[in-house]
Amino acid sequence: MNLDLSYAENLDQQDELKHFRNEFYIPNETIYFDGNSLGLLSKRSETSLFNILNSWKQYAIDGWSEGEYPWFYLSENLGDMTAPLLGAEPREVIITGSTTTNLHQLTASFFSPNGKKMKILADELNFPSDIYALKSQLRLKGLDPSENLVKVTSRNGHTLETQDIIDAMTEEVALIVLPSVLYRSGQILDMKVLTKEAHKRGIYIGFDLCHSIGAIPHKLSEWGVDFAFWCTYKHLNGGPGSVGGIYINKNHFGKAPGLAGWFSSDKSKQFDMEHTLTAAADAGAYQIGTPHVLSAAPLYGALEIFQEATIEKVRKKSLLLTEYLMNLVDEKLIDYQFNIVSPRDEETRGAHVFLEHPEAARICKALKAHKVIPDFRAPNGVRLAPVALYNTFQEVWHAVRILVEIMEEKEYKKFENERGVIA
Ligand SMILES: *Cc1c(COP(=O)(O)O)cnc(C)c1O
Repeated sequence: MNLDLSYAENLDQQDELKHFRNEFYIPNETIYFDGNSLGLLSKRSETSLFNILNSWKQYAIDGWSEGEYPWFYLSENLGDMTAPLLGAEPREVIITGSTTTNLHQLTASFFSPNGKKMKILADELNFPSDIYALKSQLRLKGLDPSENLVKVTSRNGHTLETQDIIDAMTEEVALIVLPSVLYRSGQILDMKVLTKEAHKRGIYIGFDLCHSIGAIPHKLSEWGVDFAFWCTYKHLNGGPGSVGGIYINKNHFGKAPGLAGWFSSDKSKQFDMEHTLTAAADAGAYQIGTPHVLSAAPLYGALEIFQEATIEKVRKKSLLLTEYLMNLVDEKLIDYQFNIVSPRDEETRGAHVFLEHPEAARICKALKAHKVIPDFRAPNGVRLAPVALYNTFQEVWHAVRILVEIMEEKEYKKFENERGVIA
């Protein structure tokens, strides 16, 4: 197979999303493959941020109801714009909180230990923050996390077997929280099957979509998922610390939120200032306090880009990018002990590629010195995310060429093999 630069040039020429690259600020002369940690700023996000900043300048308190993006409805409006990325109805989605605070809210709302059902099921490969949140929620209920948090184990240290997860759905489990896409290997879990199996056993199930939103299509409502939560600063390009999101299946509308506040209110009643909350009849009920307006503002621009590009086209290009990357690694780096742990098949492969190598920390530093931006995941992972909206096939080719040079010249040996403070 000819994988050379001419092949990449050809794919770039045919790319239906290529014009979006010009909308983003690409750091000078870098090959940015870290959009799954922090997506890049687009001109449209910059514009929507300045627009909202300007409405503060111009309208002061009246910015809540005036201007192009009135702040009082911002969380709902951004939820509406996000819904197509999730296969959800607009009222099922709200932009609020952060991944971790949203998981706290959802666990407080959906975990009601009762009788035999006293346990939460998670997995041993999930991001630490999710596990910390679940453990603290168990403690708040007077339960012992070492007994009541069950973690599905991985057979190979990288991926999870659907059957192993199903086998762990015992009659003691009340709630299941899993990632849609594992943050290291990039494996996509079978949300449809897992939801069906959980519901057969009377268990609620929710997913952390941090690595799937903006990267792959979802059909949350069709699958019947109970809830989901995510951040917006990775594939969605909402900016550092941008506001996260919550999906609530409409079957659960009307349920009281575990953690309430005045923004949980039905919007028409909020300013009645009653001491009895009338919660919103939809996902809006899961908000707590005043929205972080300035941290949500870039999302208007960012989501508009997704509306135009469509998640189907993003996914199609993303699969081609990661496939090309893996094929190049197979062919050009065969002598250098790289182990691709991301799934090869399109059904279960997310939007990034995870390479294991014993010298991963310093290989990442050498790549950065050459202006290729990966991220390092301890102890031995190089994570590369070529992003459909702004990366090119030629960048994939160049990144692998640079990696080959680093390995051939043993250039990575100039660096210490340990991680920086932020990796
Ligand atoms: C990025 C990420 C988080 C981050 O949580 P925040 O509350 O946004 O800091 C949590 N979980 C997963 C799986 C992630 O990928």
